[in-house]
Amino acid sequence: MSAQLEQIEQTLQSQPDQHLEFLAKKDIIARILELREEKNVLILGHNYMEPLVYQLSGEKERGDSLALSRYAAQSDKPIILFDGVMFMAETAKILSPDKKVLIADATAGCSLAEPFKAKDVLEYRRRFPHAPVVTYVNSYADIKAESDYCCTSANGLDVVLHASKTFNSNQVIFFPDSLMGANLQHDVEKQGIDLIYPGKYDENFGRCEVHEQFKVEHLRDIRLQYDIPKHSEEAAILVHWECRPEVIAEADYYGSTSQMAKYIADHPHLKRVFLATECEMAANLASEYPHVEFVRSCNLFCQHMRKITLEKILYSLEHEVYEVNVDEEIAERARKAIDRMLEIW
Ligand code: SF4
Repeated sequence: MSAQLEQIEQTLQSQPDQHLEFLAKKDIIARILELREEKNVLILGHNYMEPLVYQLSGEKERGDSLALSRYAAQSDKPIILFDGVMFMAETAKILSPDKKVLIADATAGCSLAEPFKAKDVLEYRRRFPHAPVVTYVNSYADIKAESDYCCTSANGLDVVLHASKTFNSNQVIFFPDSLMGANLQHDVEKQGIDLIYPGKYDENFGRCEVHEQFKVEHLRDIRLQYDIPKHSEEAAILVHWECRPEVIAEADYYGSTSQMAKYIADHPHLKRVFLATECEMAANLASEYPHVEFVRSCNLFCQHMRKITLEKILYSLEHEVYEVNVDEEIAERARKAIDRMLEIW
């Protein structure tokens, strides 16, 4: 058994259900790891991947989408396999144009990214001609290419404030997440900024189909049922930026996936945590923090992320499919929007 295979088994041993699955799929995992070495492939694993897929990636090769794409751009490996959804693989291609980027299922989409095209951004620009455009990284390349800045859920607030100041505009257009837009609006309105996001002045909206399902009543029920009082040192409810404003208001902490993980790392007295986000993130953190009980709601999962399975990863590596390509001119402009974000954060 290879050293990494042994390590994966050890990591999953504290979670009996995952260990059982590991034993059932050990041969596929071993073959994927062999191919990774033979073909010199960098396998990136998003926080929302199921634990067996997530563990295929080394410690520095797991995390949120932009951090992974930036990491891949520094790597000398000629092939990147992105275990995540299509917009993430596209971002990796934008930052690593000379590498071959693969995704195990090219239909793995995203309810946030899907509804909007470049023409929608152009239409908003026409309606609000002086407002800079900030686009959340959960979007396709053509939208990024029409934007002044990209942002992540970790730096959205800073980027919006910077864009407003740089363009001397109290209006800023934000694409494509309506709920994150409403959350950011709450934070920036004190500074006189009018954030324009889909759904605010029209009928369109973009929402994460997972995060929008969390309701404030769910969180209150979970607090009572699992004894997670507010302001406790030992228990906490952590919520993703893509949730509804009233859900954010009920949380003990809100942030991006990496900020939520950091919160747990920074609070060693925590014994019980509920994460209002894709349920596999809690499964992955449970292996890392076996002393913490993660209350999980696995009826709320991302159908797009679930498309990335071990079997499809094996097929993709064996046949070097499905390759992700981005039109060079679009990629160049999208890269500028990402670079402008990186210059300030
Ligand atoms: S969890 Fe939400 S934002 Fe992430 S890929 Fe799925 S639908 Fe898109």
